[in-house]
Amino acid sequence: MGKLDGRVVLVTGAARGQGEQEARLFAGEGAKVVVADVLDDQGEALAKELGALHVHLDVSREDDWQAAVAAAKNAYGRIDGLVNNAGILRFNKLVKTPLEEFQQVVQVNQVGVFLGIKTVAPEIAAAGGGTIVNTASYTGVTGMAYVGAYSATKHAIVGLTRVAALELAGKGIRVNAVCPGAIDTAMTNPAQLDPDADPEKAAEALDAYYRKLVPLGRVGRPEEVARLALFLTCDDSSYITGQPFVIDGGWLAGVSAV
Ligand code: NAD
Repeated sequence: MGKLDGRVVLVTGAARGQGEQEARLFAGEGAKVVVADVLDDQGEALAKELGALHVHLDVSREDDWQAAVAAAKNAYGRIDGLVNNAGILRFNKLVKTPLEEFQQVVQVNQVGVFLGIKTVAPEIAAAGGGTIVNTASYTGVTGMAYVGAYSATKHAIVGLTRVAALELAGKGIRVNAVCPGAIDTAMTNPAQLDPDADPEKAAEALDAYYRKLVPLGRVGRPEEVARLALFLTCDDSSYITGQPFVIDGGWLAGVSAV
């Protein structure tokens, strides 16, 4: 028995990183997974490997969302789970951030989650209920210099999560957020996208950097976030809704005096 037997779950940004690990774990737990991303080659290859469905989805486009839902229903008849995972990060001082850059981050991270909830929640309700997991961030519950646009959108996602939980509970839909700290994906570790880089060396360098910052002494792994997303998607979390869950190796607990 898998924890997601009989479920149909759409994961955005699923071609790589945390979304990929969520798609892999969910498929292993019996879910029919919809791998949604703008990276079509990687998304299609992953879907093929998992026996899943790949859809091209730019989360910032409402027409893409409608097409993705139609494709998912055509393949599996229904959707009863959504993981809003897609996101982008830009580093800049607030006062140096061009308006276009700020708006781009809002459009993908914040509008993308809004459109996901708006488009998919009625489908989950029609399926008799289910779950939505939104990917916020450590920076959605505290500040971090040089990621102003990103942090603003991640705070917004926590707000959207709470409102959606209140409005959708009556439809049998639970809505929660994951708030990862530093996780070893291409977003935090761009060496993963460099064919000439040694991924193990890059991961070691990242761990060394976070050793002093994070109480558990290392960067997180995308598989660890996937396990939290699974918990919030399956019945193990049946009495939990409207909450942000920090997964950060203790980073947010405070600062060390020594
Ligand atoms: P990643 O860059 O490896 O993955 C992001 C995925 O989102 C990619 O597959 C990308 O193609 C996809 N994507 C980007 N824009 C998209 C769009 N408009 N429409 C659809 N898909 C799009 O990074 P990741 O760490 O796996 O990021 C996953 C989520 O976790 C993001 O929301 C990110 O903000 C969040 N997060 C990451 C970290 C970290 O340290 N890596 C920490 C906290 C939160």
